[in-house]
Amino acid sequence: MPYVRLLRLAAAAAALCLARAATAAEDPGLARFMATYRELVETNTTLSAGDCTLAAERMAKRLTAAGYPDSDVRMFVPEGHPREGGLIAVLHGTDPKAKAILMLAHVDVVEARREDWERDPFKLIQENGYFYGRGTSDMKAQAAAWVDNLVRFREEGFRPKHTVKLALTCGEETNGALNGAQWLAEHERGAIDAAFAITEGTDGELDAQGRHVALGVLAAEKVSQNYTLEVVNPGGHSSRPVKENAIYRLMDAIERISAYEFPVELIDANRAYLKAEGHIVGGERGAAMERVAADPTDAAAVALLDQDKNLHAMLRTTCVATMLSGGHATNALPQRARANINCRIMPGVSREAIKQRLAEVIHDPQVAITIPEVRGPLAQPSPLTAQILKPIETVAHELWPGVPIVPALEPGASDAQFLNPAGIPTYGVTGFFTDPDGGGIHGLNERIRVQSLYDGRTFLYRLVKLYAMQ
Ligand SMILES: [Zn+2]
Repeated sequence: MPYVRLLRLAAAAAALCLARAATAAEDPGLARFMATYRELVETNTTLSAGDCTLAAERMAKRLTAAGYPDSDVRMFVPEGHPREGGLIAVLHGTDPKAKAILMLAHVDVVEARREDWERDPFKLIQENGYFYGRGTSDMKAQAAAWVDNLVRFREEGFRPKHTVKLALTCGEETNGALNGAQWLAEHERGAIDAAFAITEGTDGELDAQGRHVALGVLAAEKVSQNYTLEVVNPGGHSSRPVKENAIYRLMDAIERISAYEFPVELIDANRAYLKAEGHIVGGERGAAMERVAADPTDAAAVALLDQDKNLHAMLRTTCVATMLSGGHATNALPQRARANINCRIMPGVSREAIKQRLAEVIHDPQVAITIPEVRGPLAQPSPLTAQILKPIETVAHELWPGVPIVPALEPGASDAQFLNPAGIPTYGVTGFFTDPDGGGIHGLNERIRVQSLYDGRTFLYRLVKLYAMQ
């Protein structure tokens, strides 16, 4: 989680790509990768019954077997969370001045109950050109590819210019669980220090015929922040109502928020998305996307895009009422009324600036606005530089010629929400292409195409090599 689906695109835009990966039987390297992948998928890492520490230990064993010294393969287990540990591993670069590259993956998975699934979710099952199992896509495919990269680099005697780091973490899939990426940013910032990190966020997109439509690159995430609105009042008996009423006053404030729309705000990620996707989509909608990319004040074009809730959320900060409480007795005038407003803030915008804007919109000093909880600093937007994009374009062109690269901004949030504010710009690119229905990620019968898995492994191997030699 989360996976941005790029927009459903016209099948006509899809390029047909020929199968090229060998089978595991023909290629011992691929067979070893598949053993790693199988081991990860078949190690239950749900929060309820699983064990991320065990999964990380198994990966650590593979790295030390490949020749990494113990000092470069280190387990971390946050205190009081014995089954939520992870792993940091390092392949040292030759240039001490070149900053590291971080390969990041969470190894925990969303809950999966055997009785709900057609097949055992914790067995890797190959059927009809797919691998089935919890985590086959989100995100044990990339986690296995990262481990496989390090094993291959070592085996080849690859001496990268940049140090290549690996972090496997736990707790991404469960709200409120200890998050390994956050823990590392707070406790092991030096160990994961990097020029940038690569992780999940958006996949490649297939059409219904299995043709490659677009490869996504996630370059920004919004930040979730709650605000509490509260009105207090002396109250009284409900048989003698007065005009001044805490619930009515709160409702007025909520209505004003409901009517308010934050202005369009373009950063590298959503501007590049509108350009690339607008070009692919074409027609009236595509033209509107390209117009907004060029001029975010084009009201007619913005209005057209706002009809799509994904695009609407991608263009701006949003705030919405999510919880409501008030009153203390059915026969009393309310002494207190309270609402939670959940905002999804664009990168680079402060919590205080949004609070100030809410106060202006509500325009009522009797409505108190407070911030109930703050989770660390806010992120700056991650720039889409040539250093990031060029290697992605190069390898994508080798594997999937003609398939466009589409940057994206994620209205939700993943582990990047912890690394970006820690000063490690984090990009989501996997090279795994998924079906139009999303491949059952977080749902039942999660799956990935066999060919997509093999191609994605090749993509991530070549990509990290290019990054490491830049
Ligand atoms: Zn995930």
